[in-house]
Amino acid sequence: MKTSILGSLFIVATPLGNLQDITLRAIDILKSVDWIAAEDTRHSRYLLQHFSITTATISLHEFNERERTSKILQFLHDGKSIALISDAGTPLISDPGFYLVREARKQGIAVIPIPGSCAAIAALSVAGLPTDRFVFEGFLPVKKTLRKAYLEALHSEARTMIFYEAPHRILETLLSLSICFGGERRVVMARELTKLHETIFTGSLHELMQWTENNPDAQRGEIVLVVAGCQAREKTHKNIVTEHVLHVLLPELSLSEAVRLAAKITGERRNVLYELALTMKGG
Ligand code: SAM
Repeated sequence: MKTSILGSLFIVATPLGNLQDITLRAIDILKSVDWIAAEDTRHSRYLLQHFSITTATISLHEFNERERTSKILQFLHDGKSIALISDAGTPLISDPGFYLVREARKQGIAVIPIPGSCAAIAALSVAGLPTDRFVFEGFLPVKKTLRKAYLEALHSEARTMIFYEAPHRILETLLSLSICFGGERRVVMARELTKLHETIFTGSLHELMQWTENNPDAQRGEIVLVVAGCQAREKTHKNIVTEHVLHVLLPELSLSEAVRLAAKITGERRNVLYELALTMKGG
């Protein structure tokens, strides 16, 4: 009876920006495997050339993951070893690879991690917010209604929360976070980690919104937001007051007048109040 020796699947973290963040083990594995499955083979070419890695590549991205998984599993059954990399950081963390890993494990193939950079962990490690318990939320839904519902579910989350966000959506996201958590909630914005323009801003959501509005650079590059969890005592005291003020004013005044007065009374930003008022009116 023919017994086949299965190949191994290595999940290899690559740098977020600074090439020196690759590990020695990652270089060894990438040089020694039979194939490298890369999210974008053209993007990874630069990294591979830099470290003189000449291993053949095959693409595995969001749109071909299922079809490519069968091909890669076939390679593994033929005894070939494969390394999976993504464009940056750790594969599968808001990146493709979950389907491949799940199927490989189901089929008894050894799946071996080669750990390294991850933007979420890098940001958390410098945020100065509690790290004993945290929750990785990845990208928020883009659709406004879905995002609102999603954030409402996080309203009382006590653990530190980590979000990924695209720069063109950052202001909108900060506004949504302020509406849900209140403008006073502590937040850390980690931008362009390990790169030339690395910036780490710490403040309240309110301050971060102002800073981002006034700094067009803050709306460029790659961004992680680390948001403090809900503290039982601080628990939205301001939100409760703000909601109460709107609750009193809305039946008496037009929406814009109620928002104008509520902003004066509570010191909250008008756009935050406006969204909140619309929500309260069921808009
Ligand atoms: N797999 C990656 C990891 O391990 O972090 C994440 C991939 S996900 C598609 C890309 C998102 O990660 C970006 O939109 C940004 O939120 C975050 N990110 C990636 N590189 C970053 C960097 N250098 N600085 C800050 N955030 C980064």
